[in-house]
Order: sequence, then C-alpha cells, then structure tokens
Amino acid sequence: MFASTVRSMTPASHSVLTSEGIAALLEGLRRRGYRLLGPTVHDSAIVYDDIASLADLPRGWTDEQGGGRYRLVRRDDDALFGYAVGPHSWKKFLHRPSELLWRAEQTADGMRINPEPGAAEKLAFFGIRSCELHALAIQDRVLLGGAYADPHYRTRREGLFLVAVNCGQAGGTCFCASMDTGPKATAGFDLALTEIISGGEHRFVVEAGSGAGRALLDEMPRRNAAPEDIAAAAAVVAKTAAEMGRTMPAAAEVPGLLRRNLDHPRWDEVAARCLTCGNCTMVCPTCFCTTVEDIAALDGTSSERVRHWDSCFTTEFSYLHGGSVRASARSRYRQWMTHKLSTWWDQFGTSGCVGCGRCITWCPVGIDITEEVAAIRAADAGRQTGE
Ligand code: SF4
Ligand code: SF4
Repeated sequence: MFASTVRSMTPASHSVLTSEGIAALLEGLRRRGYRLLGPTVHDSAIVYDDIASLADLPRGWTDEQGGGRYRLVRRDDDALFGYAVGPHSWKKFLHRPSELLWRAEQTADGMRINPEPGAAEKLAFFGIRSCELHALAIQDRVLLGGAYADPHYRTRREGLFLVAVNCGQAGGTCFCASMDTGPKATAGFDLALTEIISGGEHRFVVEAGSGAGRALLDEMPRRNAAPEDIAAAAAVVAKTAAEMGRTMPAAAEVPGLLRRNLDHPRWDEVAARCLTCGNCTMVCPTCFCTTVEDIAALDGTSSERVRHWDSCFTTEFSYLHGGSVRASARSRYRQWMTHKLSTWWDQFGTSGCVGCGRCITWCPVGIDITEEVAAIRAADAGRQTGE
C-alpha cells in the first residue's frame, strides 16, 4: 500500500547532495504542495513541528539522554541531524492527541450528524528515523489493518511523503539495533539520507526508496555516489549501532518469558518506583489507546464527540461498572510491558516496541524497559536451571 522497498547499498542507487541540495529538496516538496514537518528546537528539546526551510532545523545541536534525563548541548560542527529522537513522535500528526470524530446539530428537519474527517492534507515527514518508520508500520497495522480502518488516520497517511535519516549517533537510551529496527532505514521511505561530515566536507548520501522519491531526487542538484561515499555512509551507521548501550533479548524469547512470569516479584519492585504518570505511553510512537468525550451545547442544539489519547496507566482506563480492573500500579505496569513485548505479537504479529528509548528518557524516575526484562530474565534463567 505504501512505499516499502528494501534496497541494497550500491553506488548506482545513491546520490550525493550538499546542504544546498537538502534546501532544494525541501523547496521541491513545498512546490509539490506538501506541508513540511521536521525537527525543530523548542522548549529546550527537539520536537517535530512545521518547518519552512533548512534554517528551522536544529543545526549544530545534539542531545544527551539517560534514564529520566534529557538535555540539548551544542555540537562542535554544523550537523543538521546530529541528535537522536526527542519527546515527540510522528504519530501526533497521523493519530492526533485530540480528534473531532463527529458533530451533531439540531436542524429544522431533525438531528443532522456531520462526520469528520475533513479534507485530506499532504504531509511530508522530514527526518524520520528508522525506528520511527517501524513504529509507523506498526500503527498502520493497528489502525488500518483490521476490519475497521480509522478514516482519520487513513486520510493523512495516504498522502504521506517520507524523508528518512539514517542515525549518525545513538541516543543515550536507544536499543533499536537489538530490536532489528535501526539505525539504518531499510524500507518504507521515499528518500533516505545519511549525513557525513569529514575532512571539512558536509554532504548527504541519498537513497531513493520509491518512484516519487526518485522523481524528486532527479530534480535536485546532485552527483552520483562514489564507492567512497557509500563506504562513508555505511561507516556512519555501523558506528551508531556500535554505540548503543542497551539491548533487548531476541524477539523469539521475550513473549514466552513474560507469559510464564506474570507473578514474578520484579513487578512489585518496579511498581514501588512507578508513579503511574503515563509519560511512557504518551511519548511512545506505537501506543494507540484512546478514550472519547461527548461535549453537548448547553442549549441542546449541538453535540460533539472528541477522541483523546488515553493511557493504560490511569485507573479510569480499565474502569468497569464500579471498579478498575487494574487497580494497582503493579497490574498497570505489567499490563503495559507485557502488551508491548508479548501479547502485541498475538494481536498484530509484531512487537509493540521499536527500541526508540523514549519511555526510558521521559520516565520521571528512570524506569528502563530493558532493565526490567533483564531482571525477570535473570531470575527466570535461574529457575529454569534450578539455581
Ligand atoms: S516501549 Fe519505549 S522503547 Fe519501545 S517503542 Fe515505546 S517508547 Fe520506544
Ligand atoms: S514507568 Fe515511568 S513514565 Fe511510565 S507510568 Fe511509571 S513512572 Fe510514569
């Protein structure tokens, strides 16, 4: 349905652009009628927002991340993409935090219901990372893959143009390499860039992943990539993968591990630290749960139904006629983590985690999903061997 071509790294399929070429790329997308969205610096973080030109990108900035810690610092070069992912994910543009589902009005002929969505808008995501492309594919499966596709999501998703960036440095909490979701974009993009700064030269190796990407690239001032360019781009990605400090065990192992450890004492230990604030679900690029709110005009002439992001960390989320099914922090944390890493496979055939690390960085008490799995796994391994 959407661009999803896997390509090998050969010089013939790659071009080289300078920063001026990247500026021309943005201009080319604008001429084609796309609303340009990309990374910007706002409130001391790198967040996704509207961009007009290269000047809006976080040139010369990087981030330092750890459990419950994030800050921006200056780089000693002019890199445009010299940071990892921030608190925002692209899902806010496709699966919005608040969405008007329909509006009902009293008319002379009775009640009239006006369903949303409105007109389609052509969006271009500029700077989407490999883990985020995987998150997008997961949201496609969740929101479009079942019997009832979400028309609001589909309206925006269908016109989407994706310019990916292969990561030039690992964030302090990333673990995409062990999830097989990065740091190089291998599918699902229109164009993919690798930024290279060396020997006083600033260039971008660009790969086209779709016909639309190829057509745009062909209009840009560029040259064909030489074998040295391809080797330099591969080295950037290899360095990033090697920098990653966290790992998740193999996907074949984790679902069963969690299924047989639902009463593990580690759930009590993590619950004693968890504030049940829901930050991890808000920053996660794959979490999709929502609630609806009906807002009626006081004079009774109209009513609206609005959908909002919700979180499995609230007691209201599982409230059923007189009580919450998951009343304890232990049950809510366990629900979140076992859904992400275990039952998501049963529902959607993939993991619900892409290893972006946001839930670790933005957890106020630094709870780390990789550490929690490791703790359960260590004790599980001990029980299996009778230690
Ligand atoms: S669970 Fe955490 S690491 Fe995994 S995709 Fe969500 S925010 Fe990223
Ligand atoms: S794990 Fe961290 S971010 Fe998630 S609900 Fe608990 S305290 Fe909040």
